[in-house]
Amino acid sequence: MDIEALFKKLLSADWFVKAFKFIKSNRIFVRALSLCLTGLLAVVISIVAVGITLGFDVEYSGKIIATVQNTAVFENAKSIAAKNISTEDAYDNIQTPRFALTVTVVDKLDSAAAVADAIIENTGDFVRATALSINGEQVACVTENDLSLLLEARRTAFYIKGAQNAASFTDKVETKSGYFLKSEICDISEAEKLINSLSVKTVSSVTTDVTVPYTTKEVKTNTQPCGYNEVTTAGKNGLTRKVETVETLNGSEKSRTKVSEQTIFTPVTKVVTIGTAPVKLSAAEKANVTSAGFICPIAKGKFVVTSYYGDGRNHKGIDLGADYGVAIFAAASGTVTYAGYRSDYGYSIVIDHGNGIQTKYAHASILCAGVGEKVSQGDMIAAVGNTGYSTGNHLHFEVIVNDVRVNPAPYIGLN
Ligand SMILES: [Zn+2]
Repeated sequence: MDIEALFKKLLSADWFVKAFKFIKSNRIFVRALSLCLTGLLAVVISIVAVGITLGFDVEYSGKIIATVQNTAVFENAKSIAAKNISTEDAYDNIQTPRFALTVTVVDKLDSAAAVADAIIENTGDFVRATALSINGEQVACVTENDLSLLLEARRTAFYIKGAQNAASFTDKVETKSGYFLKSEICDISEAEKLINSLSVKTVSSVTTDVTVPYTTKEVKTNTQPCGYNEVTTAGKNGLTRKVETVETLNGSEKSRTKVSEQTIFTPVTKVVTIGTAPVKLSAAEKANVTSAGFICPIAKGKFVVTSYYGDGRNHKGIDLGADYGVAIFAAASGTVTYAGYRSDYGYSIVIDHGNGIQTKYAHASILCAGVGEKVSQGDMIAAVGNTGYSTGNHLHFEVIVNDVRVNPAPYIGLN
């Protein structure tokens, strides 16, 4: 059958004639129907073209945070989010949301990664923070990120000024920044307290300049008279530079090791030249004998009385303050029975004058007579000094009568 024959058969068919008649008599209905069909077609076309689909709104803490194709997407997102949150049990702390069926377009469906971001950033359960760990254990978590400043301040707190320092915590201290559960966050002051109780070991290289005091040497010369006392070389302090390694724990010294010691200046010994040539008492003074038969043991004008006999302290002699080296003369003739050093009297001499009378001369710098030597009144026997139990250059003079120390002042004309 050819096409033309088929067409003629179709036109002459009974159903076609009926349909044609129906269309002719119900034009409005048919127009409406065709409009409906056209609309339906348009809807189908747009569903296919735009990608309208069913999905689920994710409601978390009363807030829609994402739209997902199915609940499995959220489960994936939960795993991704847990990996990006620093809190250890983050996965268990992500709430189970409510899923509400919704119509949406494919483009508006969120990926697992996007939902993970939304869990972290839009739920309010997690915040950016820094955690402090001591020996692997998290002890504090703060939103302020100035833990490093606090840690550095603590670590360097025990530096020794002017030294080369290195310091470290004795515990393993770490910080980690990231997202943490809001409930983990503590106040910065709490973290500060923990940081300030950390133990710090400090090793410092300390350089110290140490003064080495000069020593004094006395040089005696018989080319100068007794009483001559001259600094012939000025003393000068030395200086030593010492480098030490000092280890401290929280500022308390644990060890100190000398690394080096260098002499910057060598001290210069002070030299004092002292005359020892005996001095003769002037004839006038020699002639100035008291009624007791004594002369004053130090020339007039060369001394002042600094303490009399008794003196409220049971003083058993008289003190004549004089310059170092001033000559001491025998108050009367006699035999030297003692000449030596004692811790109390220092360099001292005792002369026996006979008839139970003795004189003692103490705290001398030098002695010019020896035991057994016979001395005449006015002979130089010693020089003033500050030896033994003495606090300044002076002669302590005693007169002993029958082993009793009496007031010497009347004997030498000083009362
Ligand atoms: Zn005295």
